[in-house]
Amino acid sequence: MTELRASEVWRAVLGDLQLQVPRPVYDTWLRGTAAVSWTDDVLYVTAPTPFALEWLERRMYPTIVATARKVLGYSVDVRLQVGRDGPPADGRPAEPSEPTGPSSSGARLHVLNSNYTFSRFVVGTSNRLPDTAARAVAEAPGQTYNPLFIHSGVGLGKTHLLHAIAHTCASNGVSFRYATCEQFTNEFIGSIRNRTTEEFRSKYRDTQVLLIDDIQFIDGKEQTQDAFFHTFNELHNANRQVVLTSDKPPKALSSLEARLRSRFVWGLVADIQPPDLETRMAILRRKAGELRLSLEEEVMELVARVVRHNVRELEGSLNRILALSRLHNGPVTTSLASQALADLLYQPSPGHMDPDAVVEEVARHYRVAAQDLSGTTRRKNIARARHVAMYILRRDAGMKDTDIGRLLGGRAHSTVIAGVAKVESSIGKDPQLQKDLLAIKEAILG
Ligand code: ADP
Ligand code: MG
Repeated sequence: MTELRASEVWRAVLGDLQLQVPRPVYDTWLRGTAAVSWTDDVLYVTAPTPFALEWLERRMYPTIVATARKVLGYSVDVRLQVGRDGPPADGRPAEPSEPTGPSSSGARLHVLNSNYTFSRFVVGTSNRLPDTAARAVAEAPGQTYNPLFIHSGVGLGKTHLLHAIAHTCASNGVSFRYATCEQFTNEFIGSIRNRTTEEFRSKYRDTQVLLIDDIQFIDGKEQTQDAFFHTFNELHNANRQVVLTSDKPPKALSSLEARLRSRFVWGLVADIQPPDLETRMAILRRKAGELRLSLEEEVMELVARVVRHNVRELEGSLNRILALSRLHNGPVTTSLASQALADLLYQPSPGHMDPDAVVEEVARHYRVAAQDLSGTTRRKNIARARHVAMYILRRDAGMKDTDIGRLLGGRAHSTVIAGVAKVESSIGKDPQLQKDLLAIKEAILG
């Protein structure tokens, strides 16, 4: 594999962006950017001013990520920050480390992210099994679960665990080979074209541990599957360790040859679930520490409640908050955090909401009786609960004002409109209300 420099990657991305956006936009916002470093799946890019950073994050981010993906042919995360050349300001190393394991001789290996170690992996109930299994195979390759097949949705730590195994192998002097499925595929195709199939064979078979990331991409590629099948068999027969990650479980890889699918489940299939609230808090605490960002518990809880399904987004949220606090040159408060996460906070909740469940959860949250919400009491906490119920029924459950009025004790629709407006006008300046809304919606949606 040829080694690409961050600046080359970014130049290619910029070249493509130049074709997509109007000239003045490109000149104003993109021309002054630079890439400072990159690892397999994260490109660190600087913007010249906080204002440019803010603008790029708000207006261009999805386009930038999509373009980087298009240019590289696989998905990468782009982290934007303020600065001119030099290492990223968030404490990450300027260049990813090279693995120092025995197999790093010869052709240059795929780079490993030096942050992706076991010690930096926060463990909770959602990922305990894959973590334990990964540690076991790293310490005793070929002797416990073989193969180890780890699957999960995006951004939940598969690549992190795979690199962690590689780091452990490197420090134990065990030879390993790490490749993404795309690399494996490209090298295989290249070896046919260049008549170097022997080299390809030995590259992937002369190793104690073979780590292939995102094996789902082998789905539907018959020849590559065939090559992988033989590689797998030879390694497995020799008690060499194979570890695979995938965004789907083996049975969901629909165009996978049956003989491969059956082998993928020979050892252990372990999945990583989205982290629970407690684990999300622990991850945030750790990441904030790594960024040397001191965060109030309250802010952390707000972020952990909003970002629920993806650890990468959890990290991204921290970076956004950090960027915004730099922009405002002020402390990180819950209101700043909610501003940074505005688009996530006010997303309409997907799926159907049962109106009775809304009333019930609102009442439970404010510790009032459900029938009080349809009653006439104007006590302050009951009135607030009633307004919140109206707001959620309107905005999230999508009910009509008249139906909401009827549900809440036969109130006029103008009363409902006023209640919803009251909540709407307070949201931006009342962090407690934001937290209440999130907690209630979370409870309703399970
Ligand atoms: P995947 O390969 O499943 O898409 P990654 O391994 O790339 O996910 O993880 C995304 C980001 O989240 C990485 O920066 C990784 O370090 C981080 N991450 C995921 N899970 C954890 C965890 N349990 N503890 C700490 N960081 C985590
Ligand atoms: Mg990954």
